[in-house]
Parts: sequence; C-alpha cells; structure tokens
Amino acid sequence: MDASNDVPISDASQEWARSFARHARRERRYRRLMRHVPSGPRCKLCYTPFRGFGRVIARLGRGPSRKNPTLCATCLEDGPEGGFETEAGVVFADIRGFTSLAESLEPKEIAVLTNRFYRATTKVFVDHEAIIDKLVGDEVMAVFWPPLMAGGDPREEMVAAGLDLLRAVGYGADGDAWLALGVGADFGSTFMGNVGGEYARDWTVLGDVVNVASRLQNAAEPGQLIVSGSVYEAVKGGRDGAARLELDLKGKRESVTAYALDLGADRRTGS
Ligand SMILES: [Zn+2]
Repeated sequence: MDASNDVPISDASQEWARSFARHARRERRYRRLMRHVPSGPRCKLCYTPFRGFGRVIARLGRGPSRKNPTLCATCLEDGPEGGFETEAGVVFADIRGFTSLAESLEPKEIAVLTNRFYRATTKVFVDHEAIIDKLVGDEVMAVFWPPLMAGGDPREEMVAAGLDLLRAVGYGADGDAWLALGVGADFGSTFMGNVGGEYARDWTVLGDVVNVASRLQNAAEPGQLIVSGSVYEAVKGGRDGAARLELDLKGKRESVTAYALDLGADRRTGS
C-alpha cells in the first residue's frame, strides 16, 4: 500500500489542529454574522455564501477553495492537510419511510418536499452553530464542533437543535407534522478533516460517533430524538421525560444505552 495515499495523521497534524482551532476562535464572530446572510452554497465552517452577496466577499479571499469547494479558501488554508483527532458532536436527521413515501409521489413533488426538508433543517442547524456536513437524499448530517461554537456545553446545543428540528416540521404543536422525522445524536472523539482524493474531496468527520449517531437516528420513531447515554448524562438536568432504551445497534456487539426525547408520542398512540 502506498503510504502517500493515506490521510496524514502525524504529530505535525497536532500542530495544524492547534493552528486550526485558533482560526476557529477568530472565526466565531464572523460566523455569527454570516449565518444571517441568506443564500445557497456556503463555506461549511464560516458560512460565507458563495453566491449573491457572497461574491463581494469572494474577492476578499473568501471564495470557494479550489481544493475543496465545500470550504472557502481562507478556512481551508488555515486548516490542516488531511485531518486530526478532535472531540465533536454529530446529529443526523432523517425522513422516516422515505422510500415508500417517494413511491407515491411524482419526482417533482419529491424535490419540493426534499427542498423544504433541507431548508427547515439547515436553518435550525445554522441557528445552533453547527457545521452542515452532508445533505444526502432523505438525510442531513451536522457536526457540532466546540471551537466554532459560542461556549456552553455543545451537547446541550445538540439536544436543543434536535428538538428544534422536530418542532420545525410540526412536532410538539397542534395539528400534524408535515414530515415524519427521526433524529439521533452522539458526541465524542472524531477524526476531522479533508477526506477523498483528486476528483472528489470533502470536509467531514469520521469515527464511531458518526456511526452511533446514524444508528440512533435509525432507531428513532417519527417525532423522536434519540441521544447516546453520554450525551444524556451531560444534559439530563431538567429533562426528566426521557425514556431509557437498550438498543442493539447494527455492528455493535453489546447493546447500547440511549435515551429518547419524544415530541411525537401523542400522535403515534393516537393513530
Ligand atoms: Zn470559510
């Protein structure tokens, strides 16, 4: 195996990580400003938009990076080549039963619904200072990275975001939710950085946290946010209503303790 194709995780990446965290601290204020600027594609890390008003900023060196169009040139150049290990939270939101739902809709109707879903969920994530990592089909993945956040416990922010996602599609209010949404969240050690190669490259996080968050989201009923035991331990003050679950997650030898926060229970028993 050619080592030069590997993602570098050397001691040097620790130095980069420190430099990048300093960059992130500088970016926080800028990021809070930019999140109020509407428009489509934007840098994942600092939210600079790449169209509309963003074209003015692009001239100041904040255009999409040529190496990775999901980040602006400023963020990428201050970021590490390859990646580094860091603590982060991952939240997945997913449309329940999308395959069978899609069967009953015209392609155009699917596009309209999916767009509405992306708009609602990305707004919630941006409001909670997350990185929108991926929009894939019926799923959105967001990363909560403490150096980019204003402070406080990132796990509190993740749980607040998860519940706001459910509210954004109509749970926790009178009437029907317009989308059957399930949410999962975990927090812990990740590998963060640029993955991929010459032709496709993406800024993302990897690690067990990503798998666990995805599996928890898979286990969620419509209207539920399922969080890992460690996330719940950090946020449980004032959240008594959570149901303790023992879940057998795909790929895990032992069952995993998790907690369900439910905004959809009334509707499910009623139907
Ligand atoms: Zn940026």
